[in-house]
Amino acid sequence: MKALVLEKQGVMAIRDMPIQGEMGPDSVRIKVKNVGICGSDVHYYTHGRIGQYAVKEPMILGHEAAGVVEEIGANVKGFRPGDRVCMEPGIPNGKSRASKLGLYNLDPDVVFWATPPVHGCLIEEVIHPAEYAYKLPETMSLAEGAMVEPLAIGIQAAKKARIVPGDVGVVIGAGTIGIMCAISALAGGCSKVYIADNKQEKLDIAGSYDGVIPINFTKEDPLKKVLGDTDGWGADVVIEASGAPAVYPGFADYGCPGGKVVLVGIPIDPVPLDIAKIQAKELDMASVFRYANIYPRAINLIGSGKLDVKRLISKTYSFEQSIAAFKHAERMEPDVVKIMIEL
Ligand SMILES: [Zn+2]
Repeated sequence: MKALVLEKQGVMAIRDMPIQGEMGPDSVRIKVKNVGICGSDVHYYTHGRIGQYAVKEPMILGHEAAGVVEEIGANVKGFRPGDRVCMEPGIPNGKSRASKLGLYNLDPDVVFWATPPVHGCLIEEVIHPAEYAYKLPETMSLAEGAMVEPLAIGIQAAKKARIVPGDVGVVIGAGTIGIMCAISALAGGCSKVYIADNKQEKLDIAGSYDGVIPINFTKEDPLKKVLGDTDGWGADVVIEASGAPAVYPGFADYGCPGGKVVLVGIPIDPVPLDIAKIQAKELDMASVFRYANIYPRAINLIGSGKLDVKRLISKTYSFEQSIAAFKHAERMEPDVVKIMIEL
């Protein structure tokens, strides 16, 4: 069957690949319908590696997927052929210590789509454990289903922030994940969420959500704005979603005494922190690595109509055009949030 294969750094091809894995009693076979392109997919294409993960063999790209169930294993309950589902891309060892604690995202043995040497889901069909496939309600399209993966990171951040109704939030960085964090913080109960970035187009998209207040830091000092609007008190919740080294020494300034900081962005190298500043406000620090047990929440929010992710799909390409889709994503145009491939 056809797949989008990263042959090596900078070289992609649509070509035949065998279906990955084998049907077992607990698996489902899914016809892949929608796959969102993630920054990590583009990075493997342009750089051939992310940190310790290097592309040494041809690898199928893609991990943000939704599709239609074709076949179910003998033990699988609750699914029927024809069900529309989205899939969690990371499969842990369910018997691991981390999994037993509910922290399956932190299982060192997790197998994650399109993370070398594991193949991704830009292929006509995948075999997947049923427990990591989630049925979509009638109210949700398959394209919205593919948006669950990036949204799950935002919801994991909002959950880690233990938001209380009426909280004021700040998100630093209006990339795809920053926007997901902002709308998740609103869904979690924030009265308003400031989001700071230097790309006006991204801020305009973020600001199209009621309650998200965009700040272009090339035109306005975001710290002054947040402190000014809160009588100098600061924000209850600060979510760092930029990974930009320059942000780290100062993010504590945004937080109110007793406030919470959640680190979502991943700086490439170690960054300096002002520990004394964090201590002086007794800021609670939390961090996020992907997500665990979040997909049902994301589906509930989108499916209920409470959270619109459709406007974040900037352009949809057919599978035949998926190399063009990647080239588009690679251009990092400021008004592009998510590029989607439809199979
Ligand atoms: Zn992703």
